[in-house]
Amino acid sequence: MKIQSVRLLPLFGQTPDGGWDPAFSDRNRNLMTLVEIITDQGVTGLGSVFTSETLVAGSVAVVEPFLIGAFALDPAAVSETLHQHTFWQGRGGAITHAISGIDIALWDILGKVTGQPISRLLGGRHRDRIKPYGSMLMDEPPVMAERLQAGLARGFRAFKIGWGPFGRVDRRTDESIVVAARDAVGPDVEIMVDAGGADAYWPHGYKWAVNTARMLADYDITWFEEALRPDDIDGYIKLREHAPVPIAACEVLTRRQSFIEWIERGAVDYIQPDVTKVGGLTEQHRIGQYADDHAIMMVPHGWNTGVGLAADLQLVAAAANARWVEYITPAPYVEDLFVDPLTMDDDGLLAIPDAPGLGFQWNADGIAKHTGGMALTPSSL
Ligand SMILES: [Mg+2]
Repeated sequence: MKIQSVRLLPLFGQTPDGGWDPAFSDRNRNLMTLVEIITDQGVTGLGSVFTSETLVAGSVAVVEPFLIGAFALDPAAVSETLHQHTFWQGRGGAITHAISGIDIALWDILGKVTGQPISRLLGGRHRDRIKPYGSMLMDEPPVMAERLQAGLARGFRAFKIGWGPFGRVDRRTDESIVVAARDAVGPDVEIMVDAGGADAYWPHGYKWAVNTARMLADYDITWFEEALRPDDIDGYIKLREHAPVPIAACEVLTRRQSFIEWIERGAVDYIQPDVTKVGGLTEQHRIGQYADDHAIMMVPHGWNTGVGLAADLQLVAAAANARWVEYITPAPYVEDLFVDPLTMDDDGLLAIPDAPGLGFQWNADGIAKHTGGMALTPSSL
């Protein structure tokens, strides 16, 4: 079975709720692109890339000579070939992002052909369900409380609140948001706080981060995410040592090699690769295992699409060091892509599919709605 072609389906017309400039909802500079791999035997696989269609198309043009005609059932080997041959251009950037979607689609194909969920093909399933945390933007206290209550009603038992005014107004505002969140969900629901230090011109350093971490500890916050600029590894090492709450970061890093130093130097408690840009399932599974060998937990960064969430569910099933999965909500690019809405059980856990490949049925109407009327290519399996 050989790889015959690659097809892109850009998602546009929306941006993930997240303070994105509305310019990024435009057709030509969209943020999320679905990738289909079509084989010569009619089996297709689906992936997702956290990058515009323009950049994915350019990257696919570069990697095509090493992709088209390759054996379709060797996802890790094909992805590594693409990495090796593009060392001198686009490395860690658009090309690595594009390989992420290709890699996910190839694992989907292998799953369909073997009749197994990807998690089993990655080595086996440690779990059949996992706790999703409802991930949402921070807002002023009353709005925040209302959003959290809506999430509780849907069955979430963990939430991450982030960005918005946090760290951008004053300390009193930060604490009032956290107080409102804790009051809204009660003592038994987990709350994570994401400062969003990847924001442009993030103004805070170690002192702000450690003082804020102390405040968060008073409200039993599960982890403090991106309290520093994304490249400040020395700041993170110091923060992890002195903060009373666990520290999470690394959503913007790509390529497994970029994670080595963060893991070996113990810069974080929770490492957060994004499967739709880090290099795909192959790359992230290796990062997760390396983190596990250093007693660091892996929490997939999931601010992307329903296809990304499906890939994350397979990853966390196959990872010994996973306890949560990120689930942005409300989010049209996530929720509109599934035929059957994802629902939590009474424990607030999400079932991890054990159907072949990514394990979900994709919603043709939702895909058409966000791609300007496109449809997935029918797959023979
Ligand atoms: Mg984040």
